[in-house]
Amino acid sequence: MTAARILIAGGGFSGTAVAIELARMSSVPLEITVVEPREMPGGGVAYSTAEPSHRINVSADRMQLSGDEPGAFDRWYRQQPESVLDPAAHCADGSVYPQRGQFGRYLAQQFAAASRFPQVKLQHRRARALSWEGQQLLLSDGDVLRGDVLVLAISHPPPSLPALLQPFSGHPALIANPWQPGVLDTLDPQARVGIIGTGLSMADVVAALERRQHRGPLLAFSRRGQRSRANLSGEWPAWTLAPCPAARARAWLRHTRAEIARAAAQGIPWQRVLDAVRAQGQQIWQALPLAEQQRFARHLRSWWDVHRYRVAPQVASAIAHRLAQGTLQVLAARMTDITSCGDQLALTLRLRSGAVQTQLLDHMVVTSGPAHDTLLTREPLLSSLAQQGLIQGDALGFGIAVDAQSRALNHQGQASGHLLVAGPAARGRFGELMGLPQVADHAAAVARQILHTLNAAYDGRCRR
Ligand SMILES: Cc1cc2nc3c(=O)[nH]c(=O)nc-3n(C[C@H](O)[C@H](O)[C@H](O)COP(=O)(O)OP(=O)(O)OC[C@H]3O[C@@H](n4cnc5c(N)ncnc54)[C@H](O)[C@@H]3O)c2cc1C
Repeated sequence: MTAARILIAGGGFSGTAVAIELARMSSVPLEITVVEPREMPGGGVAYSTAEPSHRINVSADRMQLSGDEPGAFDRWYRQQPESVLDPAAHCADGSVYPQRGQFGRYLAQQFAAASRFPQVKLQHRRARALSWEGQQLLLSDGDVLRGDVLVLAISHPPPSLPALLQPFSGHPALIANPWQPGVLDTLDPQARVGIIGTGLSMADVVAALERRQHRGPLLAFSRRGQRSRANLSGEWPAWTLAPCPAARARAWLRHTRAEIARAAAQGIPWQRVLDAVRAQGQQIWQALPLAEQQRFARHLRSWWDVHRYRVAPQVASAIAHRLAQGTLQVLAARMTDITSCGDQLALTLRLRSGAVQTQLLDHMVVTSGPAHDTLLTREPLLSSLAQQGLIQGDALGFGIAVDAQSRALNHQGQASGHLLVAGPAARGRFGELMGLPQVADHAAAVARQILHTLNAAYDGRCRR
């Protein structure tokens, strides 16, 4: 039997997890190639960072591949020398929040281990995929790979530059992509820094500056000025969610608030209620009509995000420290003007209260998070697929439209078994598909779908 060729564009967590799950599950010969420009498969945007203050935002015992024994990463990490070298990773309650790069290392090791399965040939090709035409994937090094199936596993484009900042893209004060290694290294410890965005990426930047002994004033702002909440520590019972009376965004908001009050009366923190909502997130999302999903995206998403995507206790305490010191201000405000003053930028903000303030800044960091709405226009492979009509964006601007089997929908809305989407880019369809547990399960589902398609094609050939 000739080996089917599976190509995976993107070797962050999603692409690497699909490859590992395929290798673990397949009983037929497969040639799996993960095309990923980074040095190691597994890290992607989230887990390839070498910044020590970037930590996973849930404890290690909740981070693993779908097929792993529960706690696999936690056990692995505790056996590494880094676990001893990084005492700050360990919390008083016994939980551990390693640096994110450690999870990337764990995945790279799992990838290497998966290549030992005899029926698969698993390789990482260090290149960027540029286009896919007639079952051929053109790579940035000029090579062309033939594939039977292509998996798109590209989730997080860099942040977009807000329109007002676009004329300043080359300005020395502007840090447009805080994920670039070393971009914060040269900041003066007294520098006045403006931060656009108040979510997880802002938390990363504040923690990274704190580690560099930065003491200057930090001004973070966003429309609503909402900060990601801290994660829980300690053991708390799980919460069982009562059924919600209606499949509407507003009904879910009221219901969740009522459940939080009911939990509080029993001494159970709100985080446990949110965890229960999240665990049912995909069913809840898929039961909402499109208009209700759009309502959620418009009015509730930023609230959901700051409660759902929480920060590690170490990062929460770095932020609390700066707030208590008065060297971090978090404002609900809109940027109304920006001008260059030599190497500095003058930023004018209109606050929620209507007041207007102007500040001179040594640096402006854009932490508005991945610009998911630009995925199909800024990423060359995806824009070429969209131009050919082979994929289309989802109705919410979250990523790529797929069917219930994660097969990409073409411009006519037809699904192809040869083109699948793995990871958060498919979340317009599935809803809650960003945190590790859901992304890991999704990768396993994509792997099963590929094997199902290959087996069906093989059976069809045998019958003929
Ligand atoms: C900064 C950050 C921190 C996070 N921290 C946590 C956490 O602590 N806990 C948690 O549960 N979840 C966390 N998440 C969420 C979650 O784990 C991610 O959503 C998940 O890692 C998604 O990975 P991915 O592989 O789908 O996408 P990506 O990370 O975007 O990986 C895509 C990969 O594709 C590559 N690529 C791009 N274009 C091409 C191309 N044309 N050809 C080939 N390769 C290409 C990129 O180099 C990249 O490595 C975090 C997310 C982010 C962004």
